[in-house]
Order: sequence, then structure tokens, then C-alpha cells
Amino acid sequence: MRITLHGATREVTGSCYLVESGKTKILVDCGMFQGSSFAKAKNFEPFGFDPKTLNAVFLTHAHLDHTGRLPLLVKQGFRGAIYGTPPTMRITQLILEDAETVMEDEYRRSFMPKLYDKADIEKTVGFFKPIDDSGALCLRELDIQFHNAGHIMGSAFLRIEEKNGRTVVFSGDLGNANTPILKPKDKLPACDALFIETTYGNRIHEDESTRVQRLRQAVIDTIKRKGVLLIPTFAVERTQELLYELNNMAENKTIPYVDMFLDSPLADRVDKTFDMFPHYYSKKALKQVLRGDSFFDFPGLKITKTKDESKTINESRKPKVIIAG
Ligand SMILES: [Zn+2]
Repeated sequence: MRITLHGATREVTGSCYLVESGKTKILVDCGMFQGSSFAKAKNFEPFGFDPKTLNAVFLTHAHLDHTGRLPLLVKQGFRGAIYGTPPTMRITQLILEDAETVMEDEYRRSFMPKLYDKADIEKTVGFFKPIDDSGALCLRELDIQFHNAGHIMGSAFLRIEEKNGRTVVFSGDLGNANTPILKPKDKLPACDALFIETTYGNRIHEDESTRVQRLRQAVIDTIKRKGVLLIPTFAVERTQELLYELNNMAENKTIPYVDMFLDSPLADRVDKTFDMFPHYYSKKALKQVLRGDSFFDFPGLKITKTKDESKTINESRKPKVIIAG
């Protein structure tokens, strides 16, 4: 087995591994490089391999820095299957479409060239193949197993075993301990080599109860000051985790009533995807859903779907919480 790294080395975006075994060539992730501008120059550089020669791509999860160059791959002749868990396939499509909207916007404003357009995304989605519940797949001399990574809905780490050869694990991004909605990540299986992400490798996260308490206090302080609590957040997972905690606070009345706005069309679409895959929820979250408590619907929460609706957030003079992408 031969492994080459084509991204996320000495940086945390652009994840892309090329795995070769005999005549089989696969990619693990095909992410976008993200930085100061949306589609920075590095994304336009040629791949370090010929996309036409690849047999398949395996996705660890849907985030753009792991999936954002898939349409480029297809544009350059890739015709294999793109495998991932069912939620990964669904959320990847939403994320790519959202990225295209932003690229179009940047193009209109500053003539920044677009990496790809809507038609390329449509073509790419045609190659998506959701894996089944076993999470196991065999591709020629490679056995691939998806394990739960607990990072975002559908996220996985991959164990790839070469028949009569070595076994390697690609961590993708890993979830924190005690994330509110998802099942905890699987244990690391036996392997000969491990490629692991280190995005937060230099810090210790606070525990769950401290995190929730700080959020609650920030909401209470905002209401007292008649102010605005603006929370910029990632549309996938962070938003849903925030809504989960705010839903609990609002429904258990541990915070006073306050208007809350979710100002992120992508996050709204992702919320709906969460509802489609309840079997990915932790026991605690699933129990809540089965009781009929949706995390994305509670007193005070308003979801803006259009630019005009977003503008109306300014009109209210009352204290408020704004969650924005
Ligand atoms: Zn991620």
C-alpha cells in the first residue's frame, strides 16, 4: 500500500489522501483549501494525480475542507463512485450547493473566478453512493470499514485493510467527548498506521456542563442588558448543537423568554437532514425526539429563509440572540 498526502499537511484544510494498492487507486476525502478568500489560488492548482485514473473516493464527512474539490475532480475526468454514509452524501450536496452560491456572489462582486458551477455539482452528485448500515465495503484488494467518528452527522473514520497486507486508519475529523446530539465515537480498531487530524491538538476543551453554563449566562446577561447576543457559527453541527442546548434552556425555562433568530439558510436545510436520520442520534437525544421534542423548534426561535427576512432582524429593538453562518 502506498499513501500520498495531497492536502491538510502543515495546515488544517484541503484533506486529501491518495491510497494505492496494486492497480487500485482511491482517494480519502477531496477537500477545499480554505483561508482568507473563499476559493484561494491553491484550489486552482492541478491535483497531484490524474483524476481519470482513480477508482473511487471515500468521504469521512461532509465538511467543505473534506469535500469541496469533488466537483473539480469530476470536471477533470473522474468517473468512479463517491462513497460515504447516507447523511454525509446528503449534507455534502447541501454544502457544495451553498459553496457555489458564495462563489457566484464573490464572482459578481470581485470577478473572483469560480472553481465550478451548478452543473458540475449536479454531475458530481450523480456519482454519490451511500454505503449500507454494515459500513463495510470491498473494492478489489481493499476492505474498507466506516466507523462512527462522532464529529458531525454521518461522520466516519475509515479503516482500510489491504488483503494480505497492512491496515491503516484515517481519522477524518473526530468528535469531542460528550457531544450533545450524536453517538460517541467508536473505539480505534487495530491498525498498522494511523493518520490523525490535529486541528485542536494544542488545546483542552472545557467540559460539557461548563460550556452549557457559559452559554446560559451569556443569554441571561444579554437579556438583562437589553442587548444582542450574536453567535457566528458553522452551519453544520455547531448550529445544531447550539439549538439543542438553547431548546433545552427555553423549554426547561432556565432562561427567560427571548427572541432567537437562526440566520443561516444552509443551517436550516441541515436541521431538516438531522430529522431524516434519527438513528444517528445518541440515546439521550433520540429519547427526546421520540417524546416529540424537536431541537429545532422551541419558544422564541425564528428561522430566516430569505435575505429580506434576515433584514427584518434589525427592526426588532428587543433583546435577542442571533445565530448566523
Ligand atoms: Zn470537519
